[in-house]
Amino acid sequence: MTTRIAIIGASGRMGKALLEAVTQNPASSLGAAVGRPGSSLIGADAGEIAGIGKRNIVLLDDLSQCMDSFDVLIDFTTPQTTLANAELCAAHGKGIVVGTTGFSAAEKQALLAYQDRIPLCIAANFSTGVNLCLKLLQTAAQVLGADADIEIVEAHHRHKVDSPSGTALRMGEVIAETLNRDLEKVAIYGREGQIGPRQRDSIGFATVRGGDVVGDHTVMFLADGERVEITHKASSRLSFARGAVRAAIWLQQQKKGVFDMQDVLGLK
Ligand code: NAD
Repeated sequence: MTTRIAIIGASGRMGKALLEAVTQNPASSLGAAVGRPGSSLIGADAGEIAGIGKRNIVLLDDLSQCMDSFDVLIDFTTPQTTLANAELCAAHGKGIVVGTTGFSAAEKQALLAYQDRIPLCIAANFSTGVNLCLKLLQTAAQVLGADADIEIVEAHHRHKVDSPSGTALRMGEVIAETLNRDLEKVAIYGREGQIGPRQRDSIGFATVRGGDVVGDHTVMFLADGERVEITHKASSRLSFARGAVRAAIWLQQQKKGVFDMQDVLGLK
């Protein structure tokens, strides 16, 4: 049995990588591809948009037109679009893999509420390597957290609209949870001017934007006399896309609830 997957935002940067990953995975097939209403690409062959050859699936402009064509939706778009799609998936009993980042607290809460009706897999980063790093960060925080200052530095391409990245925030959350700190209270998002010495419990975030950087994250544990750095560098969007397809195949077996990539990889 293959999992029929629909991709929304199919002509976007991640959308194209997802189209490629769905067709590469023998356990999945492309059920539907949806783009932004008004896009000049509507009606074009999805495979040709992704540069992987004709797939005989045309890009539609309305997800509600193709709800019977797929088992699980993969959504890497914008928070508002994802919320509207989650409602549609809930009405039709379809699971949804959410890669979109930049949700406000209220939007995140609204998204999580769908867990009573459908299965959702939500992750700020679907790459296997980053999810391994989250596990390593728990260990590093347990061993070094009391003695080290913790700083998170991330870099992304110039088009990224949210900051810090969802992945950097997730890294901060994992560390804060491990150390019993409240991230909202201890996070410092950038520094400027006469701000005084560093507070021991702070978790600092620094953001770099530019060029075509796919996604770099480094977490530094800075102690007296030594420091440990855990770094992940993504060089291709296919690393996220392959993980999201793996998550969609896994999600088809779930009835309802909210899951993340750690569940998919069995890292919990
Ligand atoms: P992008 O702007 O290239 O792509 C977004 C696509 O969504 C565009 O093609 C746009 O037309 C489409 N879209 C927007 N509104 C739509 C609507 N109403 N209906 C249909 N399509 C619509 O951006 P991107 O770089 O592909 O990133 C998309 C999101 O994925 C961002 O939030 C980004 O942070 C996130 N992301 C997550 C991961 C992860 O592993 N979780 C990895 C990379 C990017």
